[in-house]
Amino acid sequence: MSAIPGSIALPEVPGPFEEHERDGKPPFKATAYFFVIAVVAAAACENLLASTLEYVKDRRAFGRPIGSHQVIRHKLAEIALRIEAGRDLTYHALRRFVDGADAVQEVTMAKLATQRAAFDVADTCLQIHGGAGYMVEYDIERAARDARLGPIGGGTDEIMKEIIGKQLGL
Ligand SMILES: Cc1cc2nc3c(=O)[nH]c(=O)nc-3n(C[C@H](O)[C@H](O)[C@H](O)COP(=O)(O)OP(=O)(O)OC[C@H]3O[C@@H](n4cnc5c(N)ncnc54)[C@H](O)[C@@H]3O)c2cc1C
Repeated sequence: MSAIPGSIALPEVPGPFEEHERDGKPPFKATAYFFVIAVVAAAACENLLASTLEYVKDRRAFGRPIGSHQVIRHKLAEIALRIEAGRDLTYHALRRFVDGADAVQEVTMAKLATQRAAFDVADTCLQIHGGAGYMVEYDIERAARDARLGPIGGGTDEIMKEIIGKQLGL
């Protein structure tokens, strides 16, 4: 899903860093990035759900496919709900943005909701895969590692809440 993380410094390269918050709102480039990572996280969650659904129909334990155990079914139902909620919030923010309305609050909420959801979804899917989820063969462990960046990268969850708080007039 992404490259191996590392760190490089490009001190001579001009960047958007001088573009600061104005009127309590994050700069446009920041909110545009929120859209991108919200959409990417929603898509990653859909892939995780699809591959985990396949796995639970195939993998058997205690004489039946693990997907027929209620506890697994409920986990997958919760995942489907988180995905739908995050995706719908992202689409709602996008529609407002395309219509020319102020979408800062909505896209910030979408970023916040989808990044934590992606990490939780990846972690739950890994758990459902049992020991296999920890192995490199199934890609789930990689997805879980990648998803951990979401609540940090592009602005942390805490900063998203700060933006929403300011939008609420606090
Ligand atoms: C793999 C990776 C890729 C990245 N790619 C990019 C990139 O392409 N472009 C880019 O510009 N940046 C990139 N980043 C940087 C990323 O955006 C920052 O790591 C992130 O914004 C957090 O900043 P920080 O690491 O300096 O944490 P800090 O600002 O030091 O924050 C540390 C902790 O304190 C909390 N905190 C800080 N201030 C407050 C506050 N006011 N109230 C409450 N809590 C607070 C934070 O939420 C966090 O939990 C990347 C980071 C990683 C790990």
